Amino acid sequence: MIEGMTPEFRTDASQTLWQACMDELARELPEQQFNTWIKPLAAQVSEDQQTVTLHVANRFKLDWIRAQYAARLADVLANLQGHPVKLELVITPRENLVKPTKTATSSVVDMPAELTAVADEPASNAFRSRLNRALNFDNLVEGTANRMARAAAMHVSGSPGHLYNPLFIYGGVGLGKTHLMHAIGNKLLADRPDAKVLYIHAEQFVSDVVKAYQRKTFDEFKQHYHSLDLLLIDDVQFFANKDRTQEEFFNAFEALLAKKSHIVMTSDTYPKGLADIHERLVSRFDSGLTVAMEPPELEMRVAILINKAISEGSEMPEEVAFFVAKNVRSNVRELEGALRKILAYSRFNQKEISIQLARDALRDLLSIQNRQISVENIQKTVADYYKIKVADMYSKKRPASIARPRQIAMYLAKEMTQKSLPEIGELFGGRDHTTVLHAVRKISAERQQMTELNQQLHVLEQTLKG
Ligand code: ADP
Ligand code: MG
Repeated sequence: MIEGMTPEFRTDASQTLWQACMDELARELPEQQFNTWIKPLAAQVSEDQQTVTLHVANRFKLDWIRAQYAARLADVLANLQGHPVKLELVITPRENLVKPTKTATSSVVDMPAELTAVADEPASNAFRSRLNRALNFDNLVEGTANRMARAAAMHVSGSPGHLYNPLFIYGGVGLGKTHLMHAIGNKLLADRPDAKVLYIHAEQFVSDVVKAYQRKTFDEFKQHYHSLDLLLIDDVQFFANKDRTQEEFFNAFEALLAKKSHIVMTSDTYPKGLADIHERLVSRFDSGLTVAMEPPELEMRVAILINKAISEGSEMPEEVAFFVAKNVRSNVRELEGALRKILAYSRFNQKEISIQLARDALRDLLSIQNRQISVENIQKTVADYYKIKVADMYSKKRPASIARPRQIAMYLAKEMTQKSLPEIGELFGGRDHTTVLHAVRKISAERQQMTELNQQLHVLEQTLKG
């Protein structure tokens, strides 16, 4: 709804309210903080005085202001207005923000972090790293789902160029791959501020190649890439079918490894699962360490919710976090979305965060989930996927070609629905709950070991979630 909106600064009320708010913050904050973060903000008050939109210059500032000042700003505004005020933060590049009449375009804040990462914060490395400083190891919650990947990433950031080169991290959307990459870069820069680190999304790399091609500036392009100490390249599945890009990337890859620079890549699948990428590149990808990031388990989801709430200046009771974590399972990005809804709902209605409030705030999301994931749906989806009959889900047949998909379906039923083991057994042709338990244990153990199975399960999970 904010997209394409024009920040105009017509009303005096808008400026008066904002000025009063700034005066208050100026009293509260150390001068330097105020000058750096609050003073440059441009504000707009909606007609009905219910919403204040703040325009910030870039993603980094937006994250910072949201984390550090948003709650206080909302309180001050609410006090001044005498009713709760909704605070919206919008990225509006400074050159677009010409007061008072010129039109400007704003972008919605909910862009993928990798496309809006910025590097112009105070004290930035002279070399443009494109790192988002807000993503680090400290705010990346650890759990079994990401333990391996996180440990490898830590190791690489501590001694790049040695073990695990290249590091290849793969997993489904919203599981923290991009976050982990930025964490590696930020940690290395904290230890060695002069290191040449570059974070780049594969799509950006493709477009850099195209530009170099058009402008005949391949020498500069090469010089730039081949001089790095650490190259973080995100979502390499985007290289599919881009032959020229793959060739350039191959060259950069070889040059960097030869001089013991480190390369970290992410992708939505393991190297051999990548489609339309040259074999020689795929085998290079797999020549260091390949680690998976899994969907977070329940306790990890709870920890993430509690941590994120704190960083937003709120507190989420543990029972509420469990309720949300049980219902929002697929990935961290969705978890964040749910949290944002709950916080907004609580602030707006001035109600404490409780299970009932979470239920109300997430009503739409919960009803979609309840509709979609049933045991019947799982049985049908798994049967389709492995090309067996749905009836075989309840049959007594035992050949592996049938028994295995059936076990997979039982595992998914346990993971993705609220049904108990006996209930699941019942729905699989009246099997004993121990049979279900055995299947669940077996598949979840194998999932840790076998990339192919893990990949299949990811696909099934994504399909079921719709
Ligand atoms: P991906 O690149 O795998 O799609 P992202 O790195 O963009 O996922 O993560 C999505 C969101 O979830 C980001 O805001 C990220 O900070 C957050 N996130 C992911 N994993 C964790 C974690 N373990 N702890 C805290 N936040 C996380
Ligand atoms: Mg990503």
